Amino acid sequence: MNIRSKNWQLAANKQFDVVIIGAGINGATIYSRLCSMGYRVLLVDKGDFSCGTSQASAMMIWGGLLYLKNLDFFSVFHFSKDRDKLIKTHGKEIDPRFFRYIPNRKWGRNKFLVYLALYLYWILGNFRRQKPSYQKTYQELKFLCRKKSEGSFIYQEGFLKDSDSRFVLNWILSHQTEDSFALNYCLIDEAVYSARDRKWAISISDTVQNNYSSIRARVILNCAGVWADAVNQQFGIQTPYRHVLSKGVFIGLKRPETHQAPLIFEMGEHGDTLTFIPWGPISLWGPTETMENSIEDGFAINPRDIHFLQYHASRNLEPALAASKIISLRCGIRPLAVDRTFKADCYPLDISRYHKIAADGGRPWISVYGGKISGCVSMAEEVAQKVGRQFRPSLRNLPGLKIPEYDKNRASFPGLQEKFPSIDWCVQNEFCCTLEDYLRRRTNISQWLPREGLGFQNENREHLGSLARQLPAAEGKTPDNHVNEYVAKVNEGFDRLMAQI
Ligand SMILES: Cc1cc2nc3c(=O)[nH]c(=O)nc-3n(C[C@H](O)[C@H](O)[C@H](O)COP(=O)(O)OP(=O)(O)OC[C@H]3O[C@@H](n4cnc5c(N)ncnc54)[C@H](O)[C@@H]3O)c2cc1C
Repeated sequence: MNIRSKNWQLAANKQFDVVIIGAGINGATIYSRLCSMGYRVLLVDKGDFSCGTSQASAMMIWGGLLYLKNLDFFSVFHFSKDRDKLIKTHGKEIDPRFFRYIPNRKWGRNKFLVYLALYLYWILGNFRRQKPSYQKTYQELKFLCRKKSEGSFIYQEGFLKDSDSRFVLNWILSHQTEDSFALNYCLIDEAVYSARDRKWAISISDTVQNNYSSIRARVILNCAGVWADAVNQQFGIQTPYRHVLSKGVFIGLKRPETHQAPLIFEMGEHGDTLTFIPWGPISLWGPTETMENSIEDGFAINPRDIHFLQYHASRNLEPALAASKIISLRCGIRPLAVDRTFKADCYPLDISRYHKIAADGGRPWISVYGGKISGCVSMAEEVAQKVGRQFRPSLRNLPGLKIPEYDKNRASFPGLQEKFPSIDWCVQNEFCCTLEDYLRRRTNISQWLPREGLGFQNENREHLGSLARQLPAAEGKTPDNHVNEYVAKVNEGFDRLMAQI
């Protein structure tokens, strides 16, 4: 029996201390923190784990260098502290990495000001990272469109080794016991609070197989990212905060041979920057930063986003690279926490990225707003303290942290040298239900190969068929259905957009 089916069996009429809605980075780290304190926790996501913004980040564990431009020393100090704590405690998943800041005399900041800012950044990080330095020439110059080097500044941050989705998944997989577990593709249909029992009665249902259950919990945590406002509205919860939505898009290009360090370019607008990040066989160019009014628009890439990125690529990268075929796309919405009365008429980068936590006055319900991957540890700690003030953990014998060993079972995929965990492993142990779960979040295949892994000429379609045969039985779905559904999604998304460029 795979882990998902087992957890559904365990969920029958179960009592929990805490139910967490949303398994992005916020929900996953809070889940892990509460489990290690001895709380009995259920973590649910309406889709796959990390299927929201947490699969679309730049994967940088950083101290928030850019926020220095708003003199937001508070965020920089705290993000730097969290970055270094994460690098120390999660060395298996995070690499300390040198980044290269490339100033631009024509449209960027003064070079000496940049150097000074990097020193200040290093000081705010309490000297824990390597000292910034200046380098006149560097190997990445080979694919930049500049004739002459204006030099570059090197400074150190952290970077996720595998991916952001894997990072989220690892927090979740590290605690799967009879008392605390997670369920993806799980909806909360109803949640009613009884003041007499001081418990929530919650109905949950499975959107993949025919499962449902009634459970009880003492507290509900809303960690639904950009959907947090909608979830609060559904259950009649009011908070002093709301989210402003800032869309971020990356394009994936073939990685130049000499591309080693993540590069930071000055955009010349709003004091913002663009990055070129080496990741496996591709390099990610972006992200955009645009204010959106709806979640649907925020997760839909449009030709304007691509034209914007291509225009800036042509100003910085050599013409052949800038115009090369787009291999993959990546899009997420930054959930920016603001006061409910905030008028969002500024550039999104000017809004603080720090999280806010709101406990409901009437019912035991805590909402998490904003946050970043880099700041996940202290955010989780703060939420855990809030829960701790309400009641003590139920379990006396604390469950140990189990670091998942997913790299034992390795499989290959046509066109990639990298090896991945096999689909069978991911189904049995990692809640994998669809081709997209496997290709996008359990592995990086759909980001590293053209057309989400299908190949420019559909050359991998047959291979997807053999993968689909190993997926778990889902209501009325054959392996062919899985493949056809995947191909249709690529046609309607990636192909349609490319046809408009
Ligand atoms: C382009 C871009 C680049 C970024 N780069 C970085 C970076 O380099 N470093 C960094 O630290 N941060 C970065 N960020 C920010 C970071 O990615 C986000 O702040 C973070 O991923 C948000 O996590 P979250 O858990 O709040 O939301 P999400 O990851 O969106 O998770 C919310 C989850 O809730 C689920 N959900 C929603 N409604 C329900 C419901 N009713 N029931 C059950 N589940 C529900 C969703 O399915 C989703 O999985 C970046 C963001 C963007 C957009």
